[in-house]
Amino acid sequence: MTAGLAVTQEWLDEITAADETIDKHDGIQHLMARLETTLESFSKNANATRSATADYTDELEQHVAELDQVQGTGQILSSLADLAKAMLERTRKLETDMRRSEEEAKALRRSLEQARREAEIDHMTGLPNRRAFETVLEREYRDARASFDPLTVAFCDIDHFKRINDTHGHDAGDRVIRLIAEMLATISDDNCHVARHGGEEFVMLFRGVSLSEAHKKLDGLREQMAERRLRNRKTDEPLGQITFSAGIADVFDFPDPRAALKAADEALYAAKQGGRNQVIIAPKGGAQAA
Ligand code: GH3
Ligand code: MG
Ligand code: MG
Repeated sequence: MTAGLAVTQEWLDEITAADETIDKHDGIQHLMARLETTLESFSKNANATRSATADYTDELEQHVAELDQVQGTGQILSSLADLAKAMLERTRKLETDMRRSEEEAKALRRSLEQARREAEIDHMTGLPNRRAFETVLEREYRDARASFDPLTVAFCDIDHFKRINDTHGHDAGDRVIRLIAEMLATISDDNCHVARHGGEEFVMLFRGVSLSEAHKKLDGLREQMAERRLRNRKTDEPLGQITFSAGIADVFDFPDPRAALKAADEALYAAKQGGRNQVIIAPKGGAQAA
């Protein structure tokens, strides 16, 4: 299943059959890449064909006109003229069909782009999802390393979230997740990415600010959240104080981004152990080094 080959029904069947073994998202990405390549070569071919038929049609048209003028000279010329007219008509139809196919290909490409964007969004919060974050992390890591910018990752996890679900119900829990997502997103910009990592956990990436600056920003949000007293919008019951804990790590203190994420996760664990509602900085080189 190499990208660049035509999308055939057989191949689509193969993809669908393999659905259980391949990760669903990877399957979609693969399908999209394949479709995109096919669309691209289709567009190229269609364009070339259309300009070729256009030249050909013009020439044919001229010949038909010439033949019409000399039609009186004989039977053969007359049947040749009819033949040419029929060909001309067919070519015209082909051109129209081709144009329609190109328009359909364009529409398909737009849907594909939209599907790709949607596959990167967490629909509950509207934030990028974990997979989108991984792509951003890879890109920012490369760029930050090249331009010597500082880079920081953080994990945030809502404290005692199970209690919120158990006491106020899953819907109220969902609203709390959305609220925290919104709050964290207030500091997101070109250099600060916020994503939903899954469940009640978020992941953040700061570029171009020092570790202590990133810590200050995140701790400010933590404090802001801890100061609020929420109510269940549906029942008006107080939800009380809702807090989150976080672990933060300087990416370049670790061999690679994956190790930095692990260190931030360990720091988050330390924040939970230390009583929650706090942001802890990962020690350079990981917990063992501390
Ligand atoms: P801790 O302070 O140690 O993080 O405790 P916790 O209760 O927050 O941690 P735990 O990981 O045990 O519980 C997380 C819960 O979040 C479990 C799961 O049912 C719930 N959860 C995960 N995703 C969602 C979601 O999308 N909506 C709701 N309402 N609950 C979710
Ligand atoms: Mg959790
Ligand atoms: Mg939690």
